[in-house]
Amino acid sequence: MLVHRLLIISFIVLPAFTVSCAQAQQHHSNTEVITPTWAPLTLQMQEPSPKEDKPEAIEKENDSLKRPVGKLSGRRICLDPGHDSIHVPGAAAHDQSGRVLFNEHELTHLVASRLRALLEAEGAQVCVTRNEAGDLHIAPYDFNGNGSTRLPEDMAERTQPRIDFMSQFGAELILSIHFNGFHNPALSGAEVYYSDTGPYQHENRRFSESVLYSLTKKMQDSGYSPVVRGVHSDNYKTEYRAYTWAYGFDRGCTECTRLLTLGNNPMSKNRGDWKVGALAEVLFLTNPQDVRFLQGADAMDIITDGLAQGILAYFEAE
Ligand SMILES: [Zn+2]
Repeated sequence: MLVHRLLIISFIVLPAFTVSCAQAQQHHSNTEVITPTWAPLTLQMQEPSPKEDKPEAIEKENDSLKRPVGKLSGRRICLDPGHDSIHVPGAAAHDQSGRVLFNEHELTHLVASRLRALLEAEGAQVCVTRNEAGDLHIAPYDFNGNGSTRLPEDMAERTQPRIDFMSQFGAELILSIHFNGFHNPALSGAEVYYSDTGPYQHENRRFSESVLYSLTKKMQDSGYSPVVRGVHSDNYKTEYRAYTWAYGFDRGCTECTRLLTLGNNPMSKNRGDWKVGALAEVLFLTNPQDVRFLQGADAMDIITDGLAQGILAYFEAE
């Protein structure tokens, strides 16, 4: 009965106010984690063939043959798996007894690893802001000068490593991957955020629409119809106003309420130096139907395929 009622609630069109995992206060005291059923990522690694002495012309010809040729050949793309186990853990899914089913920072890392392989198979050069162990490549650094990177007002310092890493890679397109959480378990579905500012705002919107469409289409094709919550401006984080003083702005700073990760919040030390970006909130870890889908053996493949298709379709329509 309860499940039936929740099913009905989840299909009601919800008002387009914004919630995100960054807002959710998921303080999970029980750290026991149930091992997910997803198959581990296995990459087909090719043994390098022994180098022989060849004339230079033949060597060059072989090099060009070996270079991956695909729909994303020549593209530089960065993936930003949201959160980590140290600085900002994010949301979590729990079972009925309160045990952690999975943490947001683990899901985002898993999706990014698989997505990287798909994009590279299409010839893209790909960077991921967290290493194989799940840690940030660049540590947060204290640029507001308060001697810490861990206080509430230091959130721009905890996001800056992601922006810096993607800018230094020379990304043309970035995708930040998150899962949502909210105190009301009725909220469910997928949504994508984009920066509606600067010269690329229309491209940002087009990219975010492509990601949302492809992601939810793949889920629908698999038999799960999530609530499609739409694409939204990244300028909604009103709680950031409480910390503008730490970065030399007053509370009236209208651009200081943008999502930090998308690189257009002036509280960041360096803005994002890429063309196009979006932040996907794949599904809600606090909604029973979304979580049931995520527990399926194919869920990670479906999500990864959907995000990859969103990137491919964006470039194809250029
Ligand atoms: Zn998140």
